[in-house]
Amino acid sequence: MKNVRVRFAPSPTGALHIGGVRTALYNYLFARQMGGKFILRIEDTDSQRFVPGAEDYIIKSLEWCGITIDEGVSVGGPHAPYRQSERREIYLKYALQLVTDGWAYYAFDTPEELDAIRKEQETAGKTFSYNYTIRQNLSTSLKLSPEEVQTRIDRGDQWVIRFKMPENTIIKMNDLVRGEVNVNSSTLDDKVLYKSADALPTYHLANIVDDKLMEISHVIRGEEWLPSLPLHFMLYKAFGWSEVQPQFAHLPLLLKPEGNGKLSKRDGDKLGFPVFPLEWTPQDGTTSRGYKEDGYLPQAFLNMLALLGWNPGDDKEIMSIDEMISLFSIDKVSKAGARFSPQKALWFNEQYLRALPNEELAQLLDSQLKTIQITAPKEKVAAVVELVRARAVLIPDLLTLAKFYFVAPTQYDEKVVQKFWKNENPTHLKNITLMLTQIDDFTALVLDKALHDWIQERELPMGQVMNTLRLSIVGASGGASLPEILEIIGKEDALQRMNNIQTVLKTI
Ligand code: GLU
Repeated sequence: MKNVRVRFAPSPTGALHIGGVRTALYNYLFARQMGGKFILRIEDTDSQRFVPGAEDYIIKSLEWCGITIDEGVSVGGPHAPYRQSERREIYLKYALQLVTDGWAYYAFDTPEELDAIRKEQETAGKTFSYNYTIRQNLSTSLKLSPEEVQTRIDRGDQWVIRFKMPENTIIKMNDLVRGEVNVNSSTLDDKVLYKSADALPTYHLANIVDDKLMEISHVIRGEEWLPSLPLHFMLYKAFGWSEVQPQFAHLPLLLKPEGNGKLSKRDGDKLGFPVFPLEWTPQDGTTSRGYKEDGYLPQAFLNMLALLGWNPGDDKEIMSIDEMISLFSIDKVSKAGARFSPQKALWFNEQYLRALPNEELAQLLDSQLKTIQITAPKEKVAAVVELVRARAVLIPDLLTLAKFYFVAPTQYDEKVVQKFWKNENPTHLKNITLMLTQIDDFTALVLDKALHDWIQERELPMGQVMNTLRLSIVGASGGASLPEILEIIGKEDALQRMNNIQTVLKTI
């Protein structure tokens, strides 16, 4: 196989959807597996849809995922620049070449003229398509004399160059995911390739020219680009580049959790999950959630995405990036849309979080604690993380589960209070406080025995008394074993908490 060179070519029109991240990931896996190059090209020739900040967002998202770029806007490379708006002077020459060779033509129709024709056609019961049926009759270089065309250009009339899609030709295409795809050219319209108004090419022309100039070997992109494939094949043919054109692979759509239709931001908002890798705050002041900020690990996020539309041929689910690189194959990419499951995303994160060494989890908890201005001794953070790790699904769960080890409760769970803060329990708690004051070896084993003995000797209800004690320490029910909690928070803090509850709840 020739040198593998793939590109991820997003348009900076907004935040990068997770479907886009999956496209980038498949390109990256393929490039790494084949010892090829992964290129990031920014396709920003549609100035109307340009969104400030979007390019930076795309780069940061790839960085967070660990998808490294070999050539591209952020890193440069032999085919720089990689931002199409900075390559604008390249494209006109190619558009003109197609005009000279009879594959394209100038069109001078104004929007008003086009509207009028559209209406006329609709009244006649036809759907308007700018194609072989009418191009001869419109203000194009196919109808006007060369002198008239020149005059119009010279006097500054606006023009576009349109591809002259041949009539009734079967375009035979091959797609690595879908196999052979045939389309009759008569079903296609004459797409605009270049616009004089902004002196810029459209997506189709810039994309083909750049893929050729950047020596792209494989185009791996979303299914939404499949309808453009016949035009792209025809453009390669028109330029005489068919022999060197890239191979194509169109990836299946990411579907809504219910399975019908494309996954959109609205689904995420409705069901409470992000559709973007990072939080996105466009200029309209709104904010959309991101996987990073929700507390996903990038490895878990990528693993989950990798399996939306591909599998290694068995039931293997948890794979490191290196495993994915060695197992990935375009042959095993499915044609059918892949249904997104927010539960599965959580499941992946849980597996990855659980598999992290204690030390790394402790670091994660430590940075979470810092967000609420708590600095704790390393050993304490490590001990706490050991106790809570099995119950965390997302990174912030670590803090939720561990917070009470570092901060005494100031509020107490209403239901638990109703259940246990009654009868003799507050008095028992007072007496236990006195008993614990006497214990110097404040360790889980000693405390466990001391508490049980104390309660048993007095024939008190074990559950009631222990839960009252837990309420004073944790502020709620649940959590790890109480003696272990007591050992970690230490004698001073524990006694303080047992006193606190007496003051707070008495004043209610
Ligand atoms: N600029 C296109 C996009 O936004 C690229 C499509 C392609 O990869 O050809 O997805």
